[in-house]
Amino acid sequence: MKIIMLGAPGAGKGTQAKMIAEKYGIPHVSTGDIFRANIKNGTELGMEAKKYMDQGLLVPDELTVKILLDRVAQEDCKNGYVLDGFPRTIPQAQVLDKALAELGEKIDYAINVDVPDENIIKRMSGRRACLSCGATYHIEHIPPRQEGVCDNCGQPLVLRDDDKPETVQNRLKVYHDQTQPLIEFYTAKGVLRTVDGTADMKDVFEAIVSILN
Ligand code: ADP
Ligand code: AMP
Repeated sequence: MKIIMLGAPGAGKGTQAKMIAEKYGIPHVSTGDIFRANIKNGTELGMEAKKYMDQGLLVPDELTVKILLDRVAQEDCKNGYVLDGFPRTIPQAQVLDKALAELGEKIDYAINVDVPDENIIKRMSGRRACLSCGATYHIEHIPPRQEGVCDNCGQPLVLRDDDKPETVQNRLKVYHDQTQPLIEFYTAKGVLRTVDGTADMKDVFEAIVSILN
């Protein structure tokens, strides 16, 4: 099964994608996580991506598409995957479509996690991320067992640089300008399904499972 998670930054795509990946035994592929891992390891790609990420801008398509296509060509993606944070532009979606079509494959579902802008800033300022294993928490809604420490790997949790309110405003604008048109794109392909992302995370997951089943 090949699934795309759509939604504004902070809508809960990553939270749900991890649960889907676990339940269906497919990899969770997050371009944001790949960029953050590269930043942490000081690679050339990481340094290039950081310039854009810190401003709340999208990393250029040429760079992002290559990374994603390399990732989904790996063996563990053979039986499907859940994409989180990709595609974010129409050209990215077109490249993915073309690459899949060449293999006789297609996206099965694009799940749109719908959360209004008013809720987003609050979500993002409360998000805490583990840069080591990619886990995410929320200081109020989804707290770790011990404050500031990742449940999975014991590493410290951080407020991402791009989750500061001034950057979140930019990311929301970029989302509406460049990513939201994908809702139309996947509706036209008949694979778009929308869930109410303001519900409790377990209820959001239940709604997604009933779509995927
Ligand atoms: P995205 O991947 O779309 O950017 P995340 O999955 O990281 O978003 O979620 C953003 C923040 O909101 C995180 O702090 C996460 O713990 C929290 N969150 C996710 N889903 C919910 C929910 N249904 N209700 C409340 N908070 C949530
Ligand atoms: P995320 O972790 O999905 O919120 O992504 C964090 C940041 O990484 C985004 O704000 C972008 O700067 C960059 N990024 C992640 N995925 C993409 C993508 N598909 N296209 C362009 N930039 C991306």
